[in-house]
Amino acid sequence: MASISLKGVTKIFGGKKAANQITFDVADREFLVLLGPSGCGKSTLLRMLAGLEQVTSGEVHVGARRVDTLPPSARDMAFVFQSYALYPHMTVRRNITFPLIMREHRWWFHLPLIGGIAKRRIEQTPAVRDLVERTARTLALTEMLDQYPRTLSGGQRQRVALGRAMVRQPDVFLMDEPLSNLDAKLRTSMRAEIIKLHREVGGTFVYVTHDQIEAMTMGTRIALMRDGVVQQFGTPREIYTDPANTFVARFIGTPPMNLIEARIEPRGLVIGKAVLPLPGHLAALGQQAARDVLLGIRPHALGLGNGVLAGQVALVEHVGAESIVSIKLDHANTAHSDDGESGDDVMVVVQGYSDLRAGQPVHLSLDLGEAVLFERDGQRIRV
Ligand code: ATP
Repeated sequence: MASISLKGVTKIFGGKKAANQITFDVADREFLVLLGPSGCGKSTLLRMLAGLEQVTSGEVHVGARRVDTLPPSARDMAFVFQSYALYPHMTVRRNITFPLIMREHRWWFHLPLIGGIAKRRIEQTPAVRDLVERTARTLALTEMLDQYPRTLSGGQRQRVALGRAMVRQPDVFLMDEPLSNLDAKLRTSMRAEIIKLHREVGGTFVYVTHDQIEAMTMGTRIALMRDGVVQQFGTPREIYTDPANTFVARFIGTPPMNLIEARIEPRGLVIGKAVLPLPGHLAALGQQAARDVLLGIRPHALGLGNGVLAGQVALVEHVGAESIVSIKLDHANTAHSDDGESGDDVMVVVQGYSDLRAGQPVHLSLDLGEAVLFERDGQRIRV
């Protein structure tokens, strides 16, 4: 069993908390994605799991074993980095076999002649050959076993790096942005390969990325981090439909969720001069005292036409089958999120090629069926 349990894991670098009291459990064979913007602490957390970084405080358990006190080699985890870290002077076969050679390492392996013979002997053991060739088959590398890394493409090199992790048959695979050096197309196909790999080898995966698409498509669960703190831990679907705060709401989804200043009153949801009836899932709020809120609504839930919110088109972007229309509202404000990236415009996704032009007046309609509400400080309001 390779369940992973983090209890209050904290890392302090020179007074700054790169990871702050992180506590969660990862089930055996789960694919957990650590997601968040640059500098949020996801790599530091992964490196603490691997033992490449000491925890300042807290505990890491794998199955029944406490591992944060153990050296990396005793943790039975394989690590795949962003840079492939292959040995350029070794063939693909030797690169993949290398972890198995190191497992039997003796001091004379360093001697040029005897070392060479000893390594070749391990490589040619039937069990080792078998395992390496099976791994190469899984990763479609069979044809390349006798080539050197310099003759391979980026995607092929990353597959060799994955192969090197796989032959160790570890309980836990740790991956730090393994696809970020690949071009967009290759990234998409490697994403599918890693998902397949997870299904086939059956270990527990912890995967670091800042790419929400990777997280949403690969993860069985996601830990979304910011400033060393886990903001939300849940399935991709929970994180998308039920965000814990405005940071989560805007980090996941393209274009991001709109945040519009609003007020809840007994007569309904007031946005600027418009009053909208509260939808069923928010109706109970109408019975409470009036309060200022932020309305969170996805760009797909807005429409153009006979709507209630007046505004002007600021920008139209055509992206294939859809158009993204940015609109400046006349009487309402969009909220600036803490990260400062929230613009002044509401984004609407419409099907097809929009003929709208900048400056044109429009009226927005809102489908509040899946809308969420936040306090003005960004915390989610639960009904
Ligand atoms: P990125 O996606 O850019 O790699 P990240 O989310 O993986 O970012 P970390 O690399 O974990 O972030 O870094 C988290 C914080 O800890 C950052 O502020 C970083 O500057 C700091 N940090 C990381 N490693 C060290 C170190 N060895 N010494 C000092 N500070 C560090």
